[in-house]
Amino acid sequence: MSDKFLRVNDLHVHFPTDDGVVKAVDGLSFDLEKGKTLGIVGESGSGKSVTSLAIMGLHRGTRARISGEIVLDGQDLLKTTDEELRSLRGRKLAMIFQDPLSAMHPYYTVGQQLTEAIRVHEHVSKKAARTTVIEMLGRVGIPNPGRRVDQYPHEFSGGMRQRAMIAMALINNPELLIADEPTTALDVTVQAQILDLMRDLQAEFGSAIIMITHDLGVVAEIADDVLVMYGGKCVEYAEVDDAFHQPDHPYTWGLLTSMPRLDRLKQERLVPVVGNPPSLINIPPGCAFHPRCAFREFAPCACDEVVPELAESYPKHDSRCHIPVPKRAEIFRDQIAPRL
Ligand code: SF4
Repeated sequence: MSDKFLRVNDLHVHFPTDDGVVKAVDGLSFDLEKGKTLGIVGESGSGKSVTSLAIMGLHRGTRARISGEIVLDGQDLLKTTDEELRSLRGRKLAMIFQDPLSAMHPYYTVGQQLTEAIRVHEHVSKKAARTTVIEMLGRVGIPNPGRRVDQYPHEFSGGMRQRAMIAMALINNPELLIADEPTTALDVTVQAQILDLMRDLQAEFGSAIIMITHDLGVVAEIADDVLVMYGGKCVEYAEVDDAFHQPDHPYTWGLLTSMPRLDRLKQERLVPVVGNPPSLINIPPGCAFHPRCAFREFAPCACDEVVPELAESYPKHDSRCHIPVPKRAEIFRDQIAPRL
């Protein structure tokens, strides 16, 4: 058995609907050590947020059909009772949601919500919890925390609400923090501050972090490993330096060449990945990326018929493509790298 702090093994999350089964996550495996950050990247509908909700156990009570293993510190979260899971949330695992306004209760002050989050897990007085909350609000960069603690979420700016959400997620020093697009709605300055903050808090508490994002810039900034998802499956999984220096999957190439860069000349156009993400009800046969892939001619078999397996291309670097690895390296060197 792996000694990794988190091990997700062959996770499937399917939703039966009137139109068919939505295969949101289809056989996903990865692991994560304490003190490390994994970036999960993909377009909307690639399955990345569904994965994080599955780890948090937030599909319970829905029509989702979940199978596989999510083992956190030796305990399979898919086999825990609701009560066990509730007691783990906050302390063992916590999540920063995309939209802090919908994740915080509008009728309670920020301080009341954070105090409650502490008192669910610890028998401390309200006064002691409040002191901890004010301290944490200060640490996440909220000015005047002693005054702000008594304000309601709508009285906070977007950036401050996001910080309050981060404070709420971190208030019990969770060992696993899942951050789902935590900085998408924020301007770049606040975004950089929040990433710094997460890094600092990770250094202090040794937490493992899963950063869900569509932004490869954020991944380059904060992650140790990166997992690229497409159509509910992992298509590339590598240490972050390898993924940026020797990306090995046509979809990752597309993500990289469509990423804006400050040092790119103004007249150089970004090259988006053509077409749209697949419908998760009717995932294309064979390689799900084939309708959008510009490199199919290099594959030795029919990409629209044969599903490629996730296989090791380089040490600790897996990807899912039929093109032989040396050919992919050549395409990257000759056609993709010059555009980055
Ligand atoms: Fe493109 Fe075929 Fe590789 Fe899929 S398997 S990424 S369609 S070349």
